[in-house]
Amino acid sequence: QAKEAGRNTLRFFDPEMQTAFDLRTRMEAQLREGLRAGQFVLHYQPQVDDAGQMIGAEALVRWAHPERGLLSPATFIHLAEESGLILQLGEWVLQAACAQLAAWSQHGSCDERTLAINISARQFREPHFVGMVRTALNRYGIRPHRLKLELTESLLLEDVEDTIHKMAALRELGLRFALDDFGTGYSSLSYLKRLPLDELKIDRSFVDEVTTDANDAAIVRAVLALAPQLGLPVIAEGVETDAQRRFLISNGCHGFQGYLFGRPGPADALNGDALNEHA
Ligand code: C2E
Ligand code: MG
Ligand code: MG
Ligand code: MG
Repeated sequence: QAKEAGRNTLRFFDPEMQTAFDLRTRMEAQLREGLRAGQFVLHYQPQVDDAGQMIGAEALVRWAHPERGLLSPATFIHLAEESGLILQLGEWVLQAACAQLAAWSQHGSCDERTLAINISARQFREPHFVGMVRTALNRYGIRPHRLKLELTESLLLEDVEDTIHKMAALRELGLRFALDDFGTGYSSLSYLKRLPLDELKIDRSFVDEVTTDANDAAIVRAVLALAPQLGLPVIAEGVETDAQRRFLISNGCHGFQGYLFGRPGPADALNGDALNEHA
């Protein structure tokens, strides 16, 4: 019987769990090493207006893993957040985005087009977040209004006081803010109106079936009707078809991002000068 109990006790060391744990530990070590070795890259996806002109771009991080190839953020952002490595990764993204903006600026003259970067909650809550952004802007000589921070509803609302305080300080510097993945959280537009947002991004999950699903169509219409009354321009995410684009335009959407206009790609693929030319 003791033997039975012993065997049961041993069941706590489920080999599958052990394997998952090992995998995680190894991946975390690789992530740390990847940061040290410079294995991360930014890809850029254009954002366009209803005439198809580029109005900006979003920087999306990828991990050039030595064995597994180019990994999408879905495979490592979560682990980066849990392990705290997101602080280092987020700082790298910020610096790389500023470096790219500076490089684009060298080609052309002044320009109002923006580069958006994604900010994770843990990074935003860092006490030194505002200082870190200021330092990066100064270091690369970036005019702050060219950089846009994409924040999610859950991030904004998890600690409203800290959020308001930091957004005010960043806005003071001249930064802009986009509300990412809008519609997937629980907040109301009127509540969000109290925050200094510059743009609302309708989540891809609503755009996906906007031409076939009556609920999605109703939600998107409602957002597009309300946003202008709150002074918020909208960008629709994940626009893949011309039918989606036409639905959005006919309901008053003027900003688009999606495979229809361009997939995320290396900086030069974005047409290096495009961010700076008034074409
Ligand atoms: P997001 O910020 O909502 O970014 C949009 C995602 O939709 C990107 O996925 C983009 O490649 C994808 N996408 C754009 N257009 C289309 C389309 O037409 N069809 C489809 N099916 N997908 C489209 P990606 O690059 O895999 O990034 C996923 C998420 O990872 C991002 O969602 C963002 O939340 C996060 N992420 C990306 N880069 C960073 C970063 O530098 N820092 C942090 N903290 N998170 C990041
Ligand atoms: Mg985003
Ligand atoms: Mg999004
Ligand atoms: Mg998303």
